[in-house]
Amino acid sequence: MTVSAQPVASHFINGHYVEDTDGALIDVIYAATGQKIAQVHSATPAIIEQALESAKAGQKTWAAMSGTERGRVLRRAADIIRDRNHELSQLETLDTGKPMQETLYVDATSGADALEYFGGLAGSLTGEHIQLGEDWVYTVREPLGVCVGIGAWNYPTQIACWKGAPALACGNAMVFKPSETTPLCALKVAEILHESGLPAGVYNVVQGYGHVGAALVEDARVDKVSLTGSVPTGRKVYAAAAAGMKHVTMELGGKSPLVIFDDADIEDAVGGAILGNFYSSGQVCSNGTRVFVQAGIKEAFLKRLTERLATAVIGDPMEETTSFGPMVSEAQMDIVLGYIAKGKEGGATLTYGGARLDRAGFYLQPTVFSDVTDDMVIAREEIFGPVMAVLDFDSEEEVIQRANATEFGLSAGVFTKDIQCAHRVIGQLEAGSCFINSYNDAPVEAPFGGVKMSGVGRENSKGAIEHYSQMKSVYVRMGKVESPF
Ligand code: NDP
Repeated sequence: MTVSAQPVASHFINGHYVEDTDGALIDVIYAATGQKIAQVHSATPAIIEQALESAKAGQKTWAAMSGTERGRVLRRAADIIRDRNHELSQLETLDTGKPMQETLYVDATSGADALEYFGGLAGSLTGEHIQLGEDWVYTVREPLGVCVGIGAWNYPTQIACWKGAPALACGNAMVFKPSETTPLCALKVAEILHESGLPAGVYNVVQGYGHVGAALVEDARVDKVSLTGSVPTGRKVYAAAAAGMKHVTMELGGKSPLVIFDDADIEDAVGGAILGNFYSSGQVCSNGTRVFVQAGIKEAFLKRLTERLATAVIGDPMEETTSFGPMVSEAQMDIVLGYIAKGKEGGATLTYGGARLDRAGFYLQPTVFSDVTDDMVIAREEIFGPVMAVLDFDSEEEVIQRANATEFGLSAGVFTKDIQCAHRVIGQLEAGSCFINSYNDAPVEAPFGGVKMSGVGRENSKGAIEHYSQMKSVYVRMGKVESPF
């Protein structure tokens, strides 16, 4: 039996589900059928006010607890998430359309990893002692205060946890606004955190379109904004946060290079390219969508790639045998179809797929264009769908220069058996999250984030602590104060 999609109410504030039917209706559409499965209301100004006030009050209670006590709550939440993984995975599938074959392994589970990891760190967050002769300085690691998290629609559970876990570990409160396309999963995260003993008001979820996010970002009570979204939204949110001198983390889009050298293990390179282009139907920010293939391996690469794509099981995402699901929404499917048309118009060779499937829901074929050149639209813009662009290259110097010729800098990958070449190339690629003979691994222990237009700050790892806390330094004089007059 599948879980019910309809939440108890639209928002989760101060430890409870809250409704305000004055807010505009948001329909939740199941991507696999195109049918409405739930409805929520967008947050009204009264709901936003309630969320910010409860966060402000809840943060004080939470920060007064010891790190170990805070960590215990987060780790308890991780355990509950793992116990309920199956139903949470079903909900993630209903929210996004991603197949259970994925959601059972990477969504709620990666959220639980983040809660467990940052829960474990919470008790060890300390300042330092700096001796200066007989005087000394001590530093105190303090929370920032109220953090706003704004999510994209591709990983709603994971994003709610990746932002919430480090924020809460450091003693902050959070108001999280999911994408209006996928409003369901973050509510469950809030519910489970409170079931685990989180004080009321520390983690709140409000629904709404971009203007709700904008109202949160502009509010003077907010100290930090963490956005996962596109570069244009990032630019707006960063500017609004700057007006209030707020801290930011920006996890934005990409057009990442995946470089495959002649000597690469062909099956691994094809596997990496599949993971980096077709997992979650290509709706992954760090995807290696510009696949640079060295001339000597091109033919073999395209042959194995198309053979393996033909084995993709496209169908009902609730069936665990399904390995490729629909696009999240009709709007996103139309955007991707527009790019496929541009690929054809631009003169690229359509090597595989390229069409919408004749069935209910928002299904596209996995699509590969080869003979793509750097100037083509499909090689320059983020598509955020299952469209791989294969570009040819000859030399190492050439591919490094071409791979870096983009405003983005989220990820990069290299496939080669030559260990020196792998490190030399990765060392010169302008990207934050890189892979050698692998693609798109995102363990919570590793920093994740981009350079250039792909973002500011890092999620996951100990590095995230720096983005959710600040240091107070205290100078302690042991002797007399000497003043000039
Ligand atoms: P959008 O940029 O359209 O939206 C992101 C979030 O910001 C949504 O919740 C959106 O609300 C909200 N928003 C929109 N305008 C504003 C505003 N002015 N002020 C505050 N909030 C606002 O991204 P998508 O949801 O379409 O997600 C896809 C994008 O996310 C891709 O570019 C992808 O690369 C990127 N992404 C980046 C990741 C990373 O970690 N680097 C991971 C996953 C995705 P609403 O939806 O209601 O408009």
